[in-house]
Formats: sequence, structure tokens, C-alpha cells
Amino acid sequence: MSASFAIVGSGPSGMYAADALLKEVPGCRIDVFDRLPTPFGLIRFGVAPDHFKTKNTSRQFARTFELDEVRYLGNVEIGRDLSIGELQDNYDAVVLATGSYNDRRLGIPGEDLPGVYGACAFVGWYNGHPDYRDLNPLLNGGGVAVIGIGNVALDVCRVLAKTRGEMQGSDIAAHALDAIQAAPLEALHMFGRRGPVEAGFTPKELGELREFERCAVIVDGGQLPGSVEGDFEGREKGIKEKNLALLRELAAQDKPDLPIQMHMGFYAAPVEILGESQVEALRLERTQVIDGRAQGTGEFFDVPCAAVVTAIGYLALPPDGVPMDGTIVANDAGHVAGNLYVVGWSKRGPSGTIPTNGPESRDVVGLLVKNLETGKPGGDAIDALLGERGARVVDYDGYKIISAAEIAGAPEGHPQEKFTRIDEMLALLDGGGG
Ligand code: NAP
Repeated sequence: MSASFAIVGSGPSGMYAADALLKEVPGCRIDVFDRLPTPFGLIRFGVAPDHFKTKNTSRQFARTFELDEVRYLGNVEIGRDLSIGELQDNYDAVVLATGSYNDRRLGIPGEDLPGVYGACAFVGWYNGHPDYRDLNPLLNGGGVAVIGIGNVALDVCRVLAKTRGEMQGSDIAAHALDAIQAAPLEALHMFGRRGPVEAGFTPKELGELREFERCAVIVDGGQLPGSVEGDFEGREKGIKEKNLALLRELAAQDKPDLPIQMHMGFYAAPVEILGESQVEALRLERTQVIDGRAQGTGEFFDVPCAAVVTAIGYLALPPDGVPMDGTIVANDAGHVAGNLYVVGWSKRGPSGTIPTNGPESRDVVGLLVKNLETGKPGGDAIDALLGERGARVVDYDGYKIISAAEIAGAPEGHPQEKFTRIDEMLALLDGGGG
């Protein structure tokens, strides 16, 4: 009998693991589970909609799903339709690739006020994730403050800053595009608790702030150091130097007449979100960086805003029964316990780009293969369980029908208009809508 594997999560790390398993264990059978009808996880819901070309990575993964050895079991949630233990009992090995699908919290007063959104939710909303279809963020008060100075914070600011015309070619969800364009946005604030040199963003993404039709980016040249000091070498130092040069360029720009002003503020840590029944302002403390860490100076200031978006990193949220170690799944080089393994952001935390997952998933698969013992029943036994439970599995052909309808339904100038409600996707497959 051929070896059988389950992969939980069809985002990049899971799909790289599938490719590695196919190479390392010829003739194996792989079932890839996803709790949504549509595959590809972060590529569909995390990558910014105006970075649509990056989403072409999913073409490579689509080829994997066309192979006879690989099945897609969409709309199956591990923890609801099947337990992780049932997967472990039925497959020779199980690879968790569920990403970091939970926002880290700031841990400051006011964080639960209406108008505070984690990036997971906010990005999910504009990317058409069914979980956040009805987020309806409060963008009516003129200002939005984004906490964090990584690439996710830049994505959020850029999507808010662009005009409808600038979003042409993107696959932003129509409900979000309409809401953003209707919002009376006047000020965007992006706050880093440390300085420009410590920022997590990268030059390509930072450079995209140089040309907006309706938004002026304001950088205080006084916050920019003369050179990159500190413990940085090689490629990392080069990135920091490019970032600094771009920030200097932004600081030198003068665009006072544009309707939205986007302020990039460094050395400011959020300490409280203020408001009676919803967000009215963000209180921050000025900081200085000592030995690489932000330390408060005791000087506070308030910034009026109607919404706060936190882009401060994510936590893993694996199915019940999977051990955690802080914010990630407890693992030793990708091995969790028994025949259970973990890859991607659940394994290492939210860092790196999509291709970072390739070598890492291959390494974990290498370990898995070393420990592999075969003989479990495989996917037929799981199909029987799903049948008994009345699960509505969406296979890859089903996804292709959904995807074709999304492309056919795209508004002029956009590549696709995603379905944002699971019942509408299922109705399409049942011949009842679309
Ligand atoms: P990130 O680069 O780690 O940025 C997180 C930011 O949150 C940092 O500025 C961090 O500051 C700040 N932060 C954390 N806790 C905070 C707190 N309590 N108060 C204030 N600030 C706090 O992560 P990310 O932006 O979420 O991105 C995740 C990964 O996805 C990264 O590897 C990123 O490069 C990647 N990504 C790539 C792209 C792209 O390639 N286009 C797009 C999006 C995301 P400290 O540094 O001081 O902790």
C-alpha cells in the first residue's frame, strides 16, 4: 500500500510540503484539507490585492492539485468535521500548515472599543475573506492609525491611500473598495515604536509610497538617522540603507494639496486607545531606542482617529489538541509529536516571504520521511467519516467552478471578484446561483 499523508492548510507552506512529499515518497497519496471551499490561504487572503502578480504563485500550486496523487478537500475544518487525532490515526503522517490566523493583541486599555481591528481581520475584509465579510470597519471619522512598521502595515496604508483608479488590476473585494472610496479619509498614521532602521518593511514595498494620486506621505526628516548604525551586516544592512534613502526621499517631498496626508511616525509606542463608545483617538508615548529596544520617555501625545488597525504580528491558531509554545505550535525542527509535523508560520512565526517556505517545508518533509512508518488506512477511511458526518466537501474541480465564476464576474479592469460568502459558493456548485 502506498504511503498516505494529510496536509492541513492549502497555503504556501502546505503546498510546498505537498510538492516535497511527492518528490521524496514516489507513489504516495496526499489529501490537502482546507476549512474554506477555496484553496491557497495567504495567497488569496493575505497578499495585498494590488500585488496581484504575487498571487500568480498559486498557479504553481494549482498544478499540484491536477495530479492524480493529490486530492483537495475544501470546506473541511479540522477540529469541526474531523479531529487532528482522526487524521493521525488514518494517515501515515500529518502536516499542519494552518499559518498564523490570529492577531496579536497590543495589551493596552481601549483595545476592545469598536473601531480597533487586527490586520488579520482588516486585510481579510478587503481581500474578501468570508470570516470578515461583515467587518464594516469604521472609516467615517477622517483618520485611521496603523500600528506597526512592517510590510503588513504598509499594505494596509497603501490600500487605504489609493484611488479607485489606482486599484485597477487588483482583486480587492468590491464591498471594501466601495467603503474605502466612500470614506472621508483625511489622515493616515503609521506608528513604529522603534526607529526607521529597525522597521520591518522592505524597500520595494516602501518605494510604492512615493507616488499616490490622492495621498501625500509625510516623513519627519528629523527622525531619520544619518546612517545605518547597529548590528546589521550584508544583505540586511543593504535593505536598511535602501529604506533610509527612500525615507529621505519621502521626507523631501512636498505635496500639501492632496486630500489625504499619511504621516509615518517613528519612536512612538501606543499606550491607550481613547473613546467613549468607539475609537476617538490613540494615545502614544515617545520612545527612544536603547540597545535595540524601545523605551518610553514619559512624553505622551494623542492622535485623533476613528479606527486603529494593529499590524503587529500574528499568532498560530491550530486545531484543538495541538500543543502550543507561546505564539507558535510546539515543535522540534517541525516535528510536533508522533506522526504530526508542522510547517510555515505555525512552525516559525509570521516571518519571511512566500518562497521562504519552500526550503523550510522541504526540510520538515526530510525529517518526516526519515521517521516514516507506513500502514495506515489513508483517505478512504476519512471519506467514510466525512460521509457519516454529512460534511460538504468541495474538491478541486468544485474550486475551479468557483474560480471561473469569479473571473467571469470581475468588474471591468479587475481580474476577479471573489465570492465572500461560503453559502453562495456552495449554491453555485449545487447549480443554484453564481
Ligand atoms: P513585521 O515586519 O514583524 O512587523 C510587525 C511590526 O509590529 C513591527 O514594526 C513591530 O515593532 C510592531 N510591533 C509588534 N508589537 C508591537 C507593540 N506591542 N506595539 C507597537 N508595535 C508593535 O510583521 P508584518 O508586517 O506583520 O509582516 C509579517 C511577515 O509577512 C513579514 O515577514 C513581512 O515581511 C511579510 N510580508 C511581506 C510582504 C511583501 O513581501 N510584500 C507583504 C506583507 C507581509 P518591533 O520591530 O519594535 O517589534
